[in-house]
Amino acid sequence: MSWLSNIPPGIKNIFKPKDDNSDTLWTKCPGCGEMIFQRDLDAAHQVCPSCDHHLAIGPGERLALIFDNGDYQDIELPDPVTDPLKFRDEKRYTDRLKENRRKTGQHDAMRAAYGTIDGVGVVAAVQNFRFMGGSMGMALGEAMLKAAETAVEKRAPLVVFAASGGARMQEGILSLMQMPRTTIAVQMVKEAGLPYIVVLTNPTTGGVTASYAMLGDVNLAEPGALIGFAGPRVIEQTIREKLPDGFQRAEFLLEKGMVDMVVGRSQLKSTLSKLIRVLMKERRQAPVSLPAATPAPKAEPAAIPAQKKPAAKKTDDAPKLDKAAE
Ligand SMILES: [Zn+2]
Repeated sequence: MSWLSNIPPGIKNIFKPKDDNSDTLWTKCPGCGEMIFQRDLDAAHQVCPSCDHHLAIGPGERLALIFDNGDYQDIELPDPVTDPLKFRDEKRYTDRLKENRRKTGQHDAMRAAYGTIDGVGVVAAVQNFRFMGGSMGMALGEAMLKAAETAVEKRAPLVVFAASGGARMQEGILSLMQMPRTTIAVQMVKEAGLPYIVVLTNPTTGGVTASYAMLGDVNLAEPGALIGFAGPRVIEQTIREKLPDGFQRAEFLLEKGMVDMVVGRSQLKSTLSKLIRVLMKERRQAPVSLPAATPAPKAEPAAIPAQKKPAAKKTDDAPKLDKAAE
């Protein structure tokens, strides 16, 4: 190890190469590799102007993007017991939390807010992937419950933006318990007759996909988002087979029927607005029968003959049995 590595960080900062500043001025697009002027990227809400790659977006920017005039009120979230297991890996869990709180300015991985989308009151909860990989611990469970309770109280739809690596291992079984808890939170919103919409963003994996992230009345996804339970590398190693192109990406899941729509960030607010208006109207009035004109999904024609075959066999069998009985 050279003596250079022992220099205190304060002194290092003074002699930081000027190149470090370029990070804030230019960003390299992970999709096409092009250098994008940061101001252009900000104006496009972190979407690459050349290849439409959707880069990560912070919760504040996300909320400002969907709510009218960028106005919203943060919902105060409960603060559960910190580090009940006194967990320690390379670092103490409490130190990890402190570090992430400083880095993100958030208390934990989820932020919830109330605002309006085209005049309709909406509760939105956003997961911040920068906070310990958006991991789901007790604080997140509490945040989801609080968001759901607020939605019910205000008779407002709940929109969740999921981004997570899954359960927070530092909380062991307590983090896994958040799967049923968040599911109950979602159920509460549904039982109140209010819409629950999920927007799956890059990446949504693990216990989050296995609970509230897949329970939306409508599940939207951002283009190119990785969505799955186990990651592609783990699956490939387990089944020892090459996975198809685009596996677990939003577009692949749309094709397979796991996701309802893939919506670009520029269209997100208008799409949410339309969905909320349709769903809220439907629930306030008497049950509306769906028009027959709704296009049937592609998979259906194939499914119908397959179902008919066994049914036909049964009817063939039935008279024979009758005859035998006679
Ligand atoms: Zn690009």
